[in-house]
Amino acid sequence: MPVKKLTDLFDRTISYLRVSLTDQCNLRCIYCTPAPLSKLNQAELLTYEELLRVIGICVDLGIKKVRLTGGEPLVRKDVGSFIQGLSLISGLEDIRLTTNGVYLAEYCDLLYEAGVRKLNISLDTLKPERFAHITGTACFDKVWNGIERACAKGFSPVKINMVAMRGVNDDELVDFARLAMERAVQVRYIEFMPIGNAAVWGKEKYIPSSEIMARLQVLGTLEPVDQQRMDGPAKVYKIAGGKGSIGFISPLSHKFCEKCNRLRLTSAGRLRSCLLSDKEKDLKTLLRQGASDEEIAELVLQTIAAKPEGHKVTEGDSCHGRMSRIGG
Ligand code: SAM
Repeated sequence: MPVKKLTDLFDRTISYLRVSLTDQCNLRCIYCTPAPLSKLNQAELLTYEELLRVIGICVDLGIKKVRLTGGEPLVRKDVGSFIQGLSLISGLEDIRLTTNGVYLAEYCDLLYEAGVRKLNISLDTLKPERFAHITGTACFDKVWNGIERACAKGFSPVKINMVAMRGVNDDELVDFARLAMERAVQVRYIEFMPIGNAAVWGKEKYIPSSEIMARLQVLGTLEPVDQQRMDGPAKVYKIAGGKGSIGFISPLSHKFCEKCNRLRLTSAGRLRSCLLSDKEKDLKTLLRQGASDEEIAELVLQTIAAKPEGHKVTEGDSCHGRMSRIGG
């Protein structure tokens, strides 16, 4: 069978679909979803049946990897059976999950049995009290337990994503790197982006990856690691003697748009080709008007054809979408 390949106007291969399963989250992170925001009602979310159909069509077109995100994907009811259904889509090579980890311990076995092996866990602090301040909940121990369970179960890689914010958690940059030395996890530092709670984002809180790297030198030299095709936008390093690795995701200081292979499906059922550009296509309405698979495929192709060459946030463009709805 010929290998299917989806390419956009800038010759980027689009092979990765990120799906926001719900806009709801059980945490209230100060920079993301601080207050209970107006939520989509059940009928506004795509049903699992609709999601499986759309994802199947995307896989037929050439998508190879799907990431489930949100909001918090593990708070959506019956998510386990959906993931099992997803694992049956032939041609889908890789199912990944991004989670805040609160329910991870409970879902570990099911996720593993459904073939999920790669987990991203968001954790912005290693201090329980600070965790409560940032997220509005006292769930640090649950998240930590989730990480321990995931490592013990054999998920690999387990990536721990911390959004670096000056004056909020930058005194822990080195502690996170130590974690990657002591355990076989990948700690990834993410640059704080101007999306989400506009009241909290500020240039003074933004820390470029170059500064983080410089601050980690106290632990030793950062040696670059060879990366594989589907590894994503992080630049990955190891520190001599460390069991794990350290990654930097630098959407602002080192735009990786020229390598972007992503398409997104928002929790409101809209197709979006760039996290930081608000242009979307209304897939849900088309689906619910009884569209054929060919018509749905056509909308996917149109979305990819409209994928911008790069985001313009560093040139002052702002993004009004909510991270939880788009899928972070
Ligand atoms: N609930 C899941 C979780 O916590 O991983 C998935 C959704 S969450 C929106 C995905 C990721 O987006 C989290 O790691 C979060 O820290 C990150 N995020 C949210 N707002 C951000 C911002 N303004 N800049 C950088 N990362 C952000």
